[in-house]
Amino acid sequence: MNARLIEIYQAPQGEGPYLGLPMLFVRFETCAFRCSYCDTPDSFKKFSHFKWEKQPGLAEFSQETNPISVLDFQKLLQNHPCPWLSLTGGEPLHQADFLAESLPALKGEKKILLETAGTLPKDLEKIIHMIDVVSMDIKLSSVTGMRSYLKEHLDFIKVVGNQELYLKVVVSQETDEEEWRQTLETLAPLCQETLWILQPLTPRLDGALPISVKKLAHLKAMAESYLKQVQVIPQAHPQWGGL
Ligand code: SF4
Repeated sequence: MNARLIEIYQAPQGEGPYLGLPMLFVRFETCAFRCSYCDTPDSFKKFSHFKWEKQPGLAEFSQETNPISVLDFQKLLQNHPCPWLSLTGGEPLHQADFLAESLPALKGEKKILLETAGTLPKDLEKIIHMIDVVSMDIKLSSVTGMRSYLKEHLDFIKVVGNQELYLKVVVSQETDEEEWRQTLETLAPLCQETLWILQPLTPRLDGALPISVKKLAHLKAMAESYLKQVQVIPQAHPQWGGL
């Protein structure tokens, strides 16, 4: 079994409740989506080589050949001093069979965070028992420009079960309040106690407007009428030029 990667590097986590914690990021190739705000469009390309950071945290890379075998992947990660491993992309669950073979050797040695769009419950089933924390996106159609994935999100959360989970929703001036209400009504009964994070869209494209303070406060108040834990946490890594 092999996997196709884009890069492996150490950096502070730039999003969510573990913000600032050093993590070893493994960025997997491929994503079936095309979110309007995507900050990793490289995920859509095919690479003959992936970047491997020679010294942790120094952003000096060598080029390693794609695809990588389970054994070589385990060797690279087992010798790495960082205690946290983030599986990210792209969508790491597109390569769930590879993860199912690779992770047993790493489980217990590193805390494993899965960063996912939360739409592939069957693939999650293959590895959920080896994941310590699931960071799951909720994709709002009014923000992504794609269709709604509410049904898939619901099935995905059921598979997460009792594992640690937090939900991350990119919100923007375009967020449709009716869609937000429907999302809350559908998902809240399953994860009322779960931490929900509103992540204001980071304006990268020409013409993309930051969400207004008033709209953000309103979306948060709506969420708080259904949920116990709601926080606003913007992306931090653009501040330090991170990936
Ligand atoms: S799911 Fe993630 S990687 Fe895929 S298009 Fe959306 S933001 Fe980009």
